[in-house]
Amino acid sequence: TKNDVKGFFLKNSFVIFTVIAVVLGIILGFAVRPYKISYREVVFLSFPGELLMRMLQMLVLPLLVSSLITGMAALDSRASGKMGMRAVIYYTTTTVIAVFIGIIMVLIIHPGKGSKDEFTKQEKVEQVSPADAFLDLIRNMFPPNIVEACTKQFKTQYAKRVIQVQMTVNDTIFSPNGSQKITQEEMVPVPGTINGINALGLVVFSMCFGLIIGNMREQGQPLKDFFDSLNEVIMRLVGIIMWYAPLGILFLIAGKIVEMDDISSMGSQLAMYTVTVISGLLIHATVVLPTLYFIITRKNPFVFIGGLLQALVTALGTSSSSATLPITFKCLEENNKVDKRVTRFVLPVGATINMDGTALYEALAAIFIAQVNDYDLNFGQILTISITATAASIGAAGIPQAGLVTMVIVLTSVGLPTDDITLIVAVDWFLDRLRTTTNVLGDSIGAGIVEHLSRHELQKKDPEVGNLVVEE
Ligand code: ASP
Repeated sequence: TKNDVKGFFLKNSFVIFTVIAVVLGIILGFAVRPYKISYREVVFLSFPGELLMRMLQMLVLPLLVSSLITGMAALDSRASGKMGMRAVIYYTTTTVIAVFIGIIMVLIIHPGKGSKDEFTKQEKVEQVSPADAFLDLIRNMFPPNIVEACTKQFKTQYAKRVIQVQMTVNDTIFSPNGSQKITQEEMVPVPGTINGINALGLVVFSMCFGLIIGNMREQGQPLKDFFDSLNEVIMRLVGIIMWYAPLGILFLIAGKIVEMDDISSMGSQLAMYTVTVISGLLIHATVVLPTLYFIITRKNPFVFIGGLLQALVTALGTSSSSATLPITFKCLEENNKVDKRVTRFVLPVGATINMDGTALYEALAAIFIAQVNDYDLNFGQILTISITATAASIGAAGIPQAGLVTMVIVLTSVGLPTDDITLIVAVDWFLDRLRTTTNVLGDSIGAGIVEHLSRHELQKKDPEVGNLVVEE
């Protein structure tokens, strides 16, 4: 009936707007592209999209902190310990599977033919020792100054080197005809950080903070109420921004299509490489993760994924899983009705450390670079690549193209030339969007699975602590 149709559109209006936005963005992008507009005009075109990015990023810090603190405070330490274990097992298993798929795909398809003739960009990139990178990862978990952790990343040797890499790789934007080269001064992403905030450090701090509040009973109540209320305010802000999101996504996509390099000039190796990455990510996102969800929960994974559509499209548009985090929260809690104690706990951690798409990509890309260099990898080296790719995905921040930066670690670990990262830069903006979408999907399915596995703890109510019931 008419009312049913109206109800359907009302209920799914966000998804419908978002899908329309993507289609319009693509059409607009290709319509404007032939005019070869200048860099300045590209900036104008993507401006509404840039605003969306800024709005989402604005919420990340208060959202991350308040959701983790309230999430931890709402569980007793035994429940959160169990839930944390399950989350860690899920993250590790799916990341390992992702790396495995990446390796198998690149070995079977073998996109690199052992010649670099068709590649042009070659710049000097510095080596980074995996040991330094690892120490930095641990260092970042313990920020010496918590206020500073919210505003900037404390610099280390590794960070400095990565900044150099980032500058070499990312400081130029080519106009569509490739003739103009514009230098762009960008904020420098460092592994473990989100736009300069030390996310990993804040995650660790907030989790401990929330855990203690949860154990404190009355004395902790004022702080719990404060962060609960803060979290509610932020989520309402997210609700407002969601209305703007489709518009922002439209212009983000249009701007990127105008700006991208000419596809027809892409060499055959790079084209095959792109196909290999896409297939790997598709297998992980549409076969492995849904199957895992089904086996564990016995529920239809595609209904679950349907509820996430807006988050997935936002990931595609922003290529940042941390900027998408606010939308991921909304989709999981409102569409998929995942328990808030689970999302608040699992999502911020997942967005910071669990990146299946990035892990798959880093292992695959490293082996592709070996193939292009005609460098035979033995089993031990492939194993090293899989371990460092996992570490690099944990260390990568949820911001655009962070995975490209942390790839230095993977390449160095097996003695591959780090300069060759520049071989794949041309297609990275696109592959980054796909791996970000996979990352967000991995975190969300993880929340669904952890909720299912923790259903007994979630039902139980501790009369003494009394805060195990969901507040809403
Ligand atoms: N852009 C990705 C993300 O935000 C990270 C990456 O570069 O792989 O999840």
